[in-house]
Amino acid sequence: MNPSNYLKIKNKIPSNVNILAVSKGFKSQEIKTIQNAGQNDFGESKFQEAFEKQLNLKEFKQINWHFIGRIQSNKIRKIVQNFKYIHSVDSFEKLQKISNISLEEKKNPYIMLQVKLSDDPTKGGFRPELLVSKWREIKELKNILLTGLMTINPKGLSSMENLELFKKCRSLADSLQLPDCSMGMSGDWEEAVEAGSTWIRLGSLIFRDSS
Ligand SMILES: *Cc1c(COP(=O)(O)O)cnc(C)c1O
Repeated sequence: MNPSNYLKIKNKIPSNVNILAVSKGFKSQEIKTIQNAGQNDFGESKFQEAFEKQLNLKEFKQINWHFIGRIQSNKIRKIVQNFKYIHSVDSFEKLQKISNISLEEKKNPYIMLQVKLSDDPTKGGFRPELLVSKWREIKELKNILLTGLMTINPKGLSSMENLELFKKCRSLADSLQLPDCSMGMSGDWEEAVEAGSTWIRLGSLIFRDSS
């Protein structure tokens, strides 16, 4: 593979938008190729798969690892130990557990809370009303750096529908004074950028060669 798709997107997006290169399903060698083109943030969604790559790439100290998958409670300690960012915190209970374990481990992960903005039954996350009602309690948790919200749109929406959901995420984040929105994937990143995403999570678009 080559980094040409990566470089094309990198050159197109505004400077306040970060690319998270989602390397799940791709190999350490492919991560090296993209890293060498200037990318240091990589996202993984399964702990075991990620950990093997982290070991392979441990001399690449510049790499920031982001966890973006469904969080199993029994993996929280390992996730806290090995990831600088966690995008996919989908319940208050898990957030509390992350906070407690981070304190024990003397870590301070950057946290984005996953929000559920549509009725897609395959996607978890905080309902906006719950997030707002729990906000005081959330803000009191120790050893987490709460920087934003994350959302995954359902498949098959029109461009307009994607844009509307992303705007909802942005305005909720703004109302909570959170700078980041982790939103937009290979199929809907342009709408996400238009709505104010600060982290677009791109997998296939970066790691699969266009031909
Ligand atoms: C796999 C994955 C992505 C990347 O998906 P692509 O469509 O390949 O860009 C982004 N976010 C999450 C949460 C994922 O699981």
